[in-house]
Amino acid sequence: MTSRIFIKQANLVKALSHPSRLELIHLLRSRALTVSQMAKMLGKRQAYVSQHLLILKRAKVTASTRHGKEIYYEVADPHISTVCDSLFSLVHQTPLSASPEPIVVDPVCKMELTPSRASYTGQYNGVRYYFCGRGCIRQFKSQHGVLV
Ligand SMILES: [Zn+2]
Repeated sequence: MTSRIFIKQANLVKALSHPSRLELIHLLRSRALTVSQMAKMLGKRQAYVSQHLLILKRAKVTASTRHGKEIYYEVADPHISTVCDSLFSLVHQTPLSASPEPIVVDPVCKMELTPSRASYTGQYNGVRYYFCGRGCIRQFKSQHGVLV
């Protein structure tokens, strides 16, 4: 017989278990975002993002607050960020640094990142840029051309 606590854990892991949902949590760990901001950052349609946010919200992974007309999503519990950071460090080529890192700004969405948390990076005119997600690097490339 499986204890209820493990059923609950399995349900949580199921909710997390999709690349796009893990990427959304990665974006949300540093600040609250709207669906349209997340869609731009990921380079996906808003309907796609909403569908995954619904799964995360049902599992109480994310919470939302309304500010005027906008709904902002955030990670509901700091433990979620810890779990996702651990997964990130396990598989990422450059693990999340424990030592203080410089703050870099995604040139497209202006999100503040650290180099180890950036999903994408590339050099343009001798300057290294860091990006939160595929949508932002794609937009940068479309405006500036090839990154090395
Ligand atoms: Zn971005």
